[in-house]
Amino acid sequence: MSWEENVRKVVPYTPGEQPKINNIIKLNTNENPYPPAPEVVAVQESIRPEEYSLYPDPEASVLVQSLADYYGLKKEQVFVGVGSDDVLSMAFLTFFNGNKPVFFPDITYSFYDVWANLYRIPFETKPLTEDFRIDPADYTKENGGVIFPNPNAPTGVLEDLDTVEEIIRANRDVVVIVDEAYIDFGGKSCLPLLEKYDNLLVVRTFSKSRALAGMRIGFAMGNEKLISYLNDAKFSFNSYTMNLPSLRIGAASVKADDYFRKMLEKVVATREWTKAELKKLGFTFPDSYSNFIFASHPDVPAKELFKALREQGIIVRHFDKPRIDNYLRITIGTDEQMHTLVDFLKNYLK
Ligand code: PMP
Repeated sequence: MSWEENVRKVVPYTPGEQPKINNIIKLNTNENPYPPAPEVVAVQESIRPEEYSLYPDPEASVLVQSLADYYGLKKEQVFVGVGSDDVLSMAFLTFFNGNKPVFFPDITYSFYDVWANLYRIPFETKPLTEDFRIDPADYTKENGGVIFPNPNAPTGVLEDLDTVEEIIRANRDVVVIVDEAYIDFGGKSCLPLLEKYDNLLVVRTFSKSRALAGMRIGFAMGNEKLISYLNDAKFSFNSYTMNLPSLRIGAASVKADDYFRKMLEKVVATREWTKAELKKLGFTFPDSYSNFIFASHPDVPAKELFKALREQGIIVRHFDKPRIDNYLRITIGTDEQMHTLVDFLKNYLK
């Protein structure tokens, strides 16, 4: 008998690299290439020294209220956390507590199976079609809950609202979580479905579209009962998940709406330009509605391209996993960064 027998053993999630070197083009973790609005950055200076010594508001009211107002919901319908990873982890713990397997796609955000294993939640993955689409028929069997991102990661594929609704409708007796981390980049949100379905939880993040990955802000929206169960779990885990700067900065970001919309437009325009250029170079990829492109080249293996790009200081993401090991996930950076990427690829593929 050794103490190790009592250890909760887990295979951890591997986050994308945050290189410690300067002068690289970082297109590997789907961050926004632009800074947040000036008034968002200015918030830090408005924090009085004595405020640092107090605990933050455990109810995170300033942020919860600003999100509720922005999305036309009651504050009881909004839950916030330390990035959407924290929110999703809490949602797994809270809602996926049955004996039947939770369903999610085989190609998806690679944290889902990690949380399932951590919390000992049984799960089954459902294969996406050849062109990386969800087949709603896969989600009609009895299960303990459903989760999928829309648009999906790492593919960028967007499912239409009818498909999303079909899955929710077929699963009225379990919680269905739609992870809308990338929805702001052009997808249609399933948020309006909250009025119809009390088993829907929509999860979002400030890390991508709001250019605040460093502040760690995520949130979930659902009916009051779902959110109150989430809060019960949170207050049984850690009452003060979110720090004071994050709460105020998050609220300021929601307020700076013009800036937010302009920033999104810029990223989307750069994405469309990059799609056209990659196509000219022979790359194939599912159409992306996110801030990244999941691309494959018929002549050069993705692993080789990944290494060649890296030697040039251009970092993208490669997943050594079945079905997707010949793809690169390329985050949309600034126009200048994407020009450098495309110029390098033009030369390399010549
Ligand atoms: N969901 C998906 C689909 C993601 O790609 C990510 C980013 N890694 C997250 C959630 C988590 O993002 P964050 O914790 O920064 O909000």
